[in-house]
Amino acid sequence: MPAYLRPTTQSEALAALAQGTLTVLAGGTDYYPSKVGKAVADDILDISAIAGLRGIDDCGGHWRIGATTTWSEIAAAELPPLFDGLKLAARQVGGAQIQNAGTIGGNLCNASPAADGVPPLLALDARVEVAGADGNRNMALADFILGNRNTALRPGQLLTAVLVSKPMHAARSHFLKLGAREYLVVSIAMVAATLEIEAGRVSAARIAVGACSPVAQRLPPAEAVLIGKPCDAKLGELLRAEHLAGLAPIDDVRASGAYRLDAALTLGRRVLNRIGAET
Ligand SMILES: Cc1cc2nc3c(=O)[nH]c(=O)nc-3n(C[C@H](O)[C@H](O)[C@H](O)COP(=O)(O)OP(=O)(O)OC[C@H]3O[C@@H](n4cnc5c(N)ncnc54)[C@H](O)[C@@H]3O)c2cc1C
Repeated sequence: MPAYLRPTTQSEALAALAQGTLTVLAGGTDYYPSKVGKAVADDILDISAIAGLRGIDDCGGHWRIGATTTWSEIAAAELPPLFDGLKLAARQVGGAQIQNAGTIGGNLCNASPAADGVPPLLALDARVEVAGADGNRNMALADFILGNRNTALRPGQLLTAVLVSKPMHAARSHFLKLGAREYLVVSIAMVAATLEIEAGRVSAARIAVGACSPVAQRLPPAEAVLIGKPCDAKLGELLRAEHLAGLAPIDDVRASGAYRLDAALTLGRRVLNRIGAET
């Protein structure tokens, strides 16, 4: 009979993880669908009752989003416009039931190329906090997701939080996702951007594209072009096809690689225009 543990503190969870090969379970919305038609034989460590892993805190210089914070909680949270892109993504992760159970940490640890949480968090320059028997460490999200379903998490470790630094200047973000229909759909392409704006001009820019490479990627050439430009409703015209050259979209049942690239360019332009129009 597989074990099922549901600790209420992080230290209990880490102690249990150090004992053996437990599978971490948060909302279960990625884990259980991967078991359809198979017996669930894994010993489970359910982290959903650990209060310290849940919720969003303003920590002065940064925000801390606990790993088991659900997408519904993120969508409903009172946060500055910097988080608009992440909140838009939260509202598009499956339907309401999935958003009520699915967590930000589960989305990152599952490391799907189409994970909707990843581009907005890359555009927020987010870091992740990882805890293990040897203590806590944090790293850039870009260093945490190593490939398709592959992260830097080592056995015995938990992802405990996502950290977002406060920007130097007023900042806004936006997110757009294209699927085969409006809701409840796996992304064909998605784009998130965060812009910091000083005196009406872009002072910092981060653009990230998802579902067009094994891991969502930032677009440094496009970001560089935006610096110093007026932040208006035509900003997106500066985004060019050559800025997406580092992406490697695949052909699959949802779309061809060429279509994905074209969609990413259009979404990217719309995202930038939208932030510009709101500024
Ligand atoms: C019908 C449906 C629609 C969906 N639609 C979307 C969508 O539109 N966009 C999208 O991005 N995703 C979608 N998903 C996938 C899923 O809902 C999300 O990725 C969700 O955020 C996963 O979170 P979870 O807490 O349920 O993860 P779980 O299933 O609990 O865990 C996922 C993986 O991460 C590990 N894990 C979880 N938390 C931690 C932690 N803190 N530390 C270490 N390891 C951990 C688990 O061991 C497991 O391997 C959908 C799923 C379903 C079933």
